[in-house]
Amino acid sequence: MSMRIGHGIDVHAFGPGDHVTLGGVRIAYEKGLLAHSDGDVVIHALCDALLGALALGDIGHHFPPSDPRWKDADSRQFLRHCAALVAERGFMLANADISVVCERPRLAPHVELMRQRLAQDIGCPVADVSVKATTSEKLGFTGRGEGIAAHAVVLLQARPVAAPVQARDDAELHAFVERVAAEVEANVARPEDADPDTVQWQAQDKHAP
Ligand SMILES: [Zn+2]
Repeated sequence: MSMRIGHGIDVHAFGPGDHVTLGGVRIAYEKGLLAHSDGDVVIHALCDALLGALALGDIGHHFPPSDPRWKDADSRQFLRHCAALVAERGFMLANADISVVCERPRLAPHVELMRQRLAQDIGCPVADVSVKATTSEKLGFTGRGEGIAAHAVVLLQARPVAAPVQARDDAELHAFVERVAAEVEANVARPEDADPDTVQWQAQDKHAP
């Protein structure tokens, strides 16, 4: 079976604010995260891992900070876009493992909701998405409370269902990934049935800037 592995890392510094958004979950805190978008390091690292697995560059190429459209953007739309690219290229998520590093705020109470939101946007079972919160034992910039870092690793496997679509636009891509999500939910997608011959790897990158 065709498989791809990807890795992503993201860091944002704390700044003025009253909450942080991590894994699509708004968490009340005495500071915010400095970013052009909502500063969701968890989603940004995960997107970079998904794009990395497809060798499609990084999130900055797909959603340039210079583009006013992404000012204060909800990063969940970035994740849905990356998930659509994964499906379009004939792959699905085998699993994702994410580590978030900060001293504060305390993330443990929010980890389950993060997993649910990420799985929802990817269109996969919650069991395939792991989120772990850790500290750096007061060492380094995360230890000094200057910011939050996130690391993500993903494994993609060839989709066991129909050949990839050639989406004409984002709307068609998103409709496709929603259909894939519904199939996963209905347990139609069975990895053991995957036939690598039905999956076409599209080397051409039509999404590059
Ligand atoms: Zn970021």
